[in-house]
Amino acid sequence: MRTQVGIVGAGPAGLVLAQLLHLRGIDSVVLESRSREHVESRIRAGVLEQGTVDLLFEMGVGDRLRREGLVHEGIELQFGGERHRIHFTELTGGRSITVYGQQEVVKDLIAARLETGRPLVFEAEVVGVDPERALVRYTHEGAEHTIERDLVAGCDGFHGVCRDSIPSGVLREASREYPFGWLGILAEAPPSNEELIYAYHERGFALHSMRSPHLTRLYLQCRPDEPLDEWPDERIWEELRTRLELPGWTLNEGPIVEKGVTGMRSFVVEPMQHGRLYLAGDAAHIVPPTGAKGLNLAVADVRVLADAIASGDDAQLDRYSETALRRVWRAEHFSWWMTSMLHRLESGDEFDSRLQLSQLAYVCSSRAAATSLAENYVGLESV
Ligand SMILES: Cc1cc2nc3c(=O)[nH]c(=O)nc-3n(C[C@H](O)[C@H](O)[C@H](O)COP(=O)(O)OP(=O)(O)OC[C@H]3O[C@@H](n4cnc5c(N)ncnc54)[C@H](O)[C@@H]3O)c2cc1C
Repeated sequence: MRTQVGIVGAGPAGLVLAQLLHLRGIDSVVLESRSREHVESRIRAGVLEQGTVDLLFEMGVGDRLRREGLVHEGIELQFGGERHRIHFTELTGGRSITVYGQQEVVKDLIAARLETGRPLVFEAEVVGVDPERALVRYTHEGAEHTIERDLVAGCDGFHGVCRDSIPSGVLREASREYPFGWLGILAEAPPSNEELIYAYHERGFALHSMRSPHLTRLYLQCRPDEPLDEWPDERIWEELRTRLELPGWTLNEGPIVEKGVTGMRSFVVEPMQHGRLYLAGDAAHIVPPTGAKGLNLAVADVRVLADAIASGDDAQLDRYSETALRRVWRAEHFSWWMTSMLHRLESGDEFDSRLQLSQLAYVCSSRAAATSLAENYVGLESV
């Protein structure tokens, strides 16, 4: 089998790339190690930047997003017993974010891909990539297959095989491990607030978010290796109430349908390409979720890559990494900054917490500081 582009991974990066290429008449094959059911039910991100939403609409995969996505014109920051609104739309000339689960984006993209009739193979695990020859080896239904193409897009996430197929010494890594993680739950309860609430609390950060008018997504700062079995549902609700509730505002509760702990790290490899292999999304970089950037960056990468592939201009393809990394590093900084401002630091140091509170007060009282947060959160138009 010979196709123009081989795409490893059917997460947001791989599926958006496949659709963008299809719209430009470029053929591709998508190989995904997991089953369709598995990738469609993986609960992960849920905040879409304005640019991501616009692109999904332009690609013709935005019908359900338009109907079911929750458009938010701001977020609330909570500290010192008060809430402060950051009004995105007012501060950014009309831009907003949309809350729509990553698994819903993935379902819409899979449906669109299947409609094109172009190949998307589930339970096809890539076991080796040759970046120089753009050769991909994978196993499917008990047999090993090899495909060769003009180039390979490594969209296989942080734990995939593409990044590791690049010879040692080529990539430079920059990373930061945080001494905390998020204990996240999905609860069958209507959201208690119309917008996201980012709460700084002496017991640790908490986030009130949502996935639909009936599903609330809530997070608690915890240790990266927090044992989940020490968190029966009632303990989770009690801690959420402590960190989020204010006089006159109560948290809606309901059955917890999903629960997990995610460690937090920042990570970037450079360059994001070698030979004829191009890395995109989590395969090349990770951000802590505080800035809601992971999925959006994956989409931004493949937008740059699809343009470069479609241009037919080798020089533009050669500049893929350099172009993508400008946005990647802006998002890395924003995610690190939000994380550092909002989480209880390990030191428990009075100086650190006074600095955090001073920064929060500044963001909420200075239009310039609020605008900086807002334009980064909704996604910069150009970087
Ligand atoms: C548990 C969790 C929670 C998260 N929560 C948030 C959040 O709240 N907010 C936020 O902004 N971001 C969040 N993120 C980050 C966000 O989900 C990612 O940034 C986003 O999924 C990146 O998309 P991607 O397509 O690059 O990678 P992925 O979505 O990871 O897709 C990679 C795909 O490649 C497949 N694959 C891997 N190896 C192979 C192989 N060898 N062969 C074939 N296929 C392979 C995988 O099965 C997967 O489907 C979260 C991530 C995780 C893991």
